[in-house]
Amino acid sequence: MGRGNPYAGLVRRLQATWLSGKTRPMEYRVAQLEALGRFLDEKKQDILEATASDMGKVRGGPGTGGPHGQRSRGAALPTALPTHVDKNLVTQLDSAFIRKDPYGVVLIIAPWNCPIYVILVPLIGAIAAGNCVIVKPSEMTKNSERLVAEALPSYLDNDCFAVVMAGVQETTRLLENKFDYIFFTGSSSMGRIVMAAAAKHLTPVTLELGGKNPCYVSDTCDVQNVARRVAWGRFFNMGQTCIAPDYVLCSVEMQEKLLPALREAITDFYGPKPQESPDFGRIVGDKHFQRVQMLLRSGRAVIGGQTDEKERYIAPTVLVDVLPSDPIMQEEIFGPVLPIVTVANVDEAIDFINSRERPLVVYAFSSDDKVVNQVLERTSSGGFCGNDTLMHVTLTSLPFGGIGNSGLGRYHGKFTFDTFTHHRGCLHRGMGREALIALRYPPYSQQKLGLVRAASEVKRKGSCLLL
Ligand code: NAD
Repeated sequence: MGRGNPYAGLVRRLQATWLSGKTRPMEYRVAQLEALGRFLDEKKQDILEATASDMGKVRGGPGTGGPHGQRSRGAALPTALPTHVDKNLVTQLDSAFIRKDPYGVVLIIAPWNCPIYVILVPLIGAIAAGNCVIVKPSEMTKNSERLVAEALPSYLDNDCFAVVMAGVQETTRLLENKFDYIFFTGSSSMGRIVMAAAAKHLTPVTLELGGKNPCYVSDTCDVQNVARRVAWGRFFNMGQTCIAPDYVLCSVEMQEKLLPALREAITDFYGPKPQESPDFGRIVGDKHFQRVQMLLRSGRAVIGGQTDEKERYIAPTVLVDVLPSDPIMQEEIFGPVLPIVTVANVDEAIDFINSRERPLVVYAFSSDDKVVNQVLERTSSGGFCGNDTLMHVTLTSLPFGGIGNSGLGRYHGKFTFDTFTHHRGCLHRGMGREALIALRYPPYSQQKLGLVRAASEVKRKGSCLLL
């Protein structure tokens, strides 16, 4: 680590608290989770306002959901108890268990697109698991960042939890410190930088990244329903969600049916003038506005296409005649633009998906379950949702995370607790019974070795010796 690191003192202070054991007792974790619950309740209006001013005034946006659904302390805490495991003959009288240890001091880095949710959901799991935490919100969403930095410390124990406001340079310095775990949500390119910084200290990471989520629409489906579900998923939060369907793959015939249905869905949702709709926000900043505007040059806009730089407004847009080599097909769009790429059939769609980086989610629409299952079985992605968009993420019983370019690790519900937990394999033996134990000591004979082997087997019905 470079000398005079501005965050070294903070990290050292949290490490000292971690070593003192303060965060380990269940009562302490419950008290901190309840304080976090009070933050959510008492600051609800401030959260809504901060998110609205960061993301453009919008009803039903990402600030309104929040992690309330993840607040159940009851779910987290029985999980924290040790799990006793099967034993072999030689350990029958001993205690063998998996202890759910906190990692220590963890760093959570968040993006801007749902600025409160992506901080608090991992934070809940990190606290429940007994860690000390440094949270780094995105500097892009200034109001949400300020709210978290100013309000959260008056609810949580400042010996164990801290919020750091940092841009790129400061985050680079922060990452020079040794953390016990890093949970990063953001783009794949930044994910690589974070992983490289973590590698210097062999720090384990979760990387919740983005990418291009394909959405296959087969020829047999209810076109109106598909159009509404795809338009909702694509244009929610102005397309600035990591799980948005990024592009549609369908036949030329289906494209012809889908276009009027998409037009109708967009008008139903946002009216004839989406710029005036209270349910359609704005692009987060000028840089992203310019980037998405450039992407509109790919293909041909048959719905939308209008932009207003002053307001950072981009109309809900559908593009056709898009080639796989076009700029819009090279990067995650992260804006209200839906390109359609035509394919001959489901096999070609699957080949198209498999020829690209593994996405965070694959969507497939068909009235024929066999087609949906075919796409599920022959592709690989972080998650999957058949005949709808975004909805898989509402189930905290499902793990959420990417694979390959879209990320590493998983969270939500109990999986968040597991992510911030080191599963420590423990065996606690008695001091005596040496006559039984003596079998394993040299000198060996064939008979002795046979006995040791037999006594070491863990017999479980239906399981293989090594698994
Ligand atoms: P980003 O990668 O630009 O920034 C994310 C965080 O990294 C920010 O806090 C930022 O300050 C920090 N950062 C930026 N440069 C850094 C550097 N050089 N070193 C260390 N940290 C740095 O992402 P973004 O634009 O804020 O968010 C959009 C991206 O996040 C999209 O790709 C989206 O798909 C992804 N995302 C993924 C999920 C998920 O759960 N998988 C959720 C939300 C967003």
